[in-house]
Amino acid sequence: MLGQEILKLLKQEIPQIEYERYIKQLRYDEEASRSDIALFHAPNPLIARWVKTRYAEKLSHLFEIKTGVKPEVQVDVGKGKKSPQAPRGGENSETLHAKAANKSTILNPSYTFESFVVGSSNQFAYTAAQRVAEKPGELYNPLFIYGGAGLGKTHLLHAIGNYNLARGKQVIFTTLEQFMNQFTHHLRNHTMDRFRDKFRSCDILLLDDIQFLSRKEETQKELFHTFNELHGAKKQIVMTSDQHPKKIAGLEERLRSRFEWGLIVDIQPPELETKIAIIKKKCELNGIHLDNDIVNYIAANMGNNIREIEGIIIQLNAFANMMNQRITLDFAKNVVKNQIKEKRENITIDDIVKVVSRELNVKPSEITSKSRSRNIVAARRIVIYLARSLTPNSMPSLAQYFGMKDHTAVSHAMKKINEMIENDENFKTKIEELSHKITSATTE
Ligand code: ADP
Ligand code: MG
Repeated sequence: MLGQEILKLLKQEIPQIEYERYIKQLRYDEEASRSDIALFHAPNPLIARWVKTRYAEKLSHLFEIKTGVKPEVQVDVGKGKKSPQAPRGGENSETLHAKAANKSTILNPSYTFESFVVGSSNQFAYTAAQRVAEKPGELYNPLFIYGGAGLGKTHLLHAIGNYNLARGKQVIFTTLEQFMNQFTHHLRNHTMDRFRDKFRSCDILLLDDIQFLSRKEETQKELFHTFNELHGAKKQIVMTSDQHPKKIAGLEERLRSRFEWGLIVDIQPPELETKIAIIKKKCELNGIHLDNDIVNYIAANMGNNIREIEGIIIQLNAFANMMNQRITLDFAKNVVKNQIKEKRENITIDDIVKVVSRELNVKPSEITSKSRSRNIVAARRIVIYLARSLTPNSMPSLAQYFGMKDHTAVSHAMKKINEMIENDENFKTKIEELSHKITSATTE
């Protein structure tokens, strides 16, 4: 079977452990797949997500090598139910695309308002999304949500869609890329009526990752008309982007101004508590247990991309299942370290000095000076401690940075901080917060 063959090919290209943990768990859905869509089922949302972000492109490429057609790889959760609207019979390219069009409206049922953790970083976006979901077309039209990768934009978009799908509304969810591909396809096949019928007859249009409109003139033109039609009919439009509309380069002025007609909200990187709450929620939803110290460690040491944090949770869970063993903090540390090693490589001692001096209210030059005043010594020790855990610097190289005689002073500082972390819960939290600030400043 084609899907099986593709998975075998992939097996040869990736680490054995990755294969065992994720790829082996996939089931190819031969019936639902077509030449332009390859559908796999994963046992849980985390694995689905992981495969989709890490391997979709690679899988798609392998299909292309094998069949000459590059399909869109989709991964859903469960054993797979056949789409009731799936066209039957001939596999001409029109039915394929009709199917693709249906697919694009499929929402991830686990992305709901209830499963979204609200904190001050995303409260505004959450509330706006919820109000728009309740009164589509009436309040803010369009609603434009922007923010960095993995902060929950797509989740909110699906939440609006799921909410309204349950109330019998006609919802279309599409990424800008899918919109564009379908547009070109219909244009080429002289079937633009169908395309227009579809996109202009819905109650709610959810457009994900609109930044890809950048410099796509024809698609912009088509979207402009779609927008006008829907907006004029008081149909709701919700868009996401990684940037404010003003910052999307090569966007026609008339579209930009329309994007600004309604409400523009941003999602900020989560604060530590929100990150912790999100991790707990993900564990709860996926039936995974992690001790609090592990949850805190992950939250403090990973960047802000929740998708990457989910990757860590899956890896830990897969390990626990495989070894039939509890997850220890040390193991979690290792997994986290491997994951962020590449990112960490670009953190410098200067970055750490900058954050610590700002947070503890001392000057950067004081930290690197020889001053023995108490608060400066404390700040310097914290910098040393964080530099040891966040950068590849050795003790001698840190000693050199601070103009110390040799590494014994560095090792003394490490010892002091370790003692304080051990004995003082508040201090430990403070260090975790600092570490979080440093890693998120450099990974964004
Ligand atoms: P974006 O579209 O902003 O790149 P996503 O919406 O795809 O990010 O989110 C990435 C992952 O993180 C998803 O699995 C999503 O459920 C999760 N996530 C992000 N923010 C939250 C949150 N506040 N509460 C719960 N899950 C979240
Ligand atoms: Mg997204």
